[in-house]
Amino acid sequence: MATTGLSRRDFLKVSGLGAGAALVGLPRSARARAAGTERRVPTLCEMCSSRCGVFAVVRDGRVVRVEGNPDHPVNLGRPCARGNAAPASLYDPDRLRQPLKRGPDGRFRPISWEQAIQEIAAKLQELKAQYGPQTLVWAEYQNLNSGLYRRFVEAFGSPNHTGHAALCFANRNVAYAQVFGSLPSVDYKNVRYYLSPGRNLLGGVKAGDVVKLAEARAHGARIVALDPRYSELAGWADEWLPIRPATDAAFLLALAWVLVEEDLYDRDFVAGRTVGFEEFRQAIAPYTPEWAETLTDIPAATIRRIAREMAAARPAAVVDPGWHGGNGMYWNGFEAARAGAVVNALLGNLGAKGGLVMAPKVALGRIDNPPEGAGGGDGGGG
Ligand code: SF4
Repeated sequence: MATTGLSRRDFLKVSGLGAGAALVGLPRSARARAAGTERRVPTLCEMCSSRCGVFAVVRDGRVVRVEGNPDHPVNLGRPCARGNAAPASLYDPDRLRQPLKRGPDGRFRPISWEQAIQEIAAKLQELKAQYGPQTLVWAEYQNLNSGLYRRFVEAFGSPNHTGHAALCFANRNVAYAQVFGSLPSVDYKNVRYYLSPGRNLLGGVKAGDVVKLAEARAHGARIVALDPRYSELAGWADEWLPIRPATDAAFLLALAWVLVEEDLYDRDFVAGRTVGFEEFRQAIAPYTPEWAETLTDIPAATIRRIAREMAAARPAAVVDPGWHGGNGMYWNGFEAARAGAVVNALLGNLGAKGGLVMAPKVALGRIDNPPEGAGGGDGGGG
């Protein structure tokens, strides 16, 4: 040290500065991680039902931001804008953190959890004695605790458990449950022909699916948006079909008509995995492309062409089950979703690469229901 004129203290100072200078070039998050002041806790985003895989980045005991988990299949490392905003919700000064009770003056005041639970339990018992257990309706935004809530409602004896699905995608889910037994997903990454009735994937929150669909398109997949709106998807698609609102069912039935009448459907799938095909053939006889044109404003020739193109691409040709747009939230949304499911069956895409995929069941342990009579009713869920 003497030869350089640097004291040990000076040397350490300069070394520290050097290390600091190296970190200065890094983004703030990388600097904090390198300095060991941030932790990344793997978790799920619960800002919507997609439940993307994320890391909560914690500094000094506070979540400072959310980062995507690249290993999670739903979002492939990309949280949406709402997910990124999650810490703001967590620390919102108006967020409820404990029970409040309204006083005679109409103002809410904090009470303890113990008091709240006792008062609510007593009130529930009183209502049950007076009106029966069905008087309880439990409404919630479905979340990871929903199974527990449902058990509570069942134990109480009420079948009235509901959630946001009733206002969102229930039509689609019930339609697909009727046709396929459950709701499938789309193998977006490998699809070769994608018809989207009313769903605007590019304007939604499923970033992982957008990435997969973009990949499919880069490999030559054809994207067709069936939507009255010129949505983000419609602007990006190979073809936009501006259908008259709420007539998707007619379009999809005419697609089915062409597939059947021109013998373009998957005969093996229909013979091996469906029932009632002859009745179905008779039922759709009136639903020609010309009939659909009068309702949908889509030319009959276009409907025929789309059906033929999809048949040529099957089984990697898909009618998106939708979210709630085209297939859910209008008077015959249920029938539109069911018609889409039937077209998918005719294309034989269930379980095929680039088609519809059923999530495998995960083996879980078993929790028995509360003992008979514990709740004073037969329960059953909503
Ligand atoms: S889509 Fe957005 S809000 Fe929904 S779980 Fe994923 S990151 Fe969260």
